[in-house]
Amino acid sequence: MSDLCTHLETASKRDHGVHPSGHGCVDCLAAGGVWVHLRLCLTCGHVGCCDNSPGRHATKHAHATTHPVIRSYEPGEPWGYCYPDDAFVEELRAFPGEAAARHYDPPR
Ligand SMILES: [Zn+2]
Ligand SMILES: [Zn+2]
Ligand SMILES: [Zn+2]
Repeated sequence: MSDLCTHLETASKRDHGVHPSGHGCVDCLAAGGVWVHLRLCLTCGHVGCCDNSPGRHATKHAHATTHPVIRSYEPGEPWGYCYPDDAFVEELRAFPGEAAARHYDPPR
């Protein structure tokens, strides 16, 4: 794929995966918030909530850290996204443990 930005290309060629921070948005879990969908930072493994969630913690994490690329952390969703380039890819390779086995709901 030659139309990928450098960040997505780098992410697709990683030789090891990240370890997801947990089965839920790490920031919502700390603050008692709720999320809709989860995203995984492919630089450090931060699990954050999507932009349809009140906290929008995946985007906040990307802006705070400049970690560029996330992958969906929802079952059956292999897409990736680069923040600096606003670039989307339908399928980004995941290492074992990077793809969510199921949807994780916020604690009640
Ligand atoms: Zn990029
Ligand atoms: Zn959150
Ligand atoms: Zn990160």
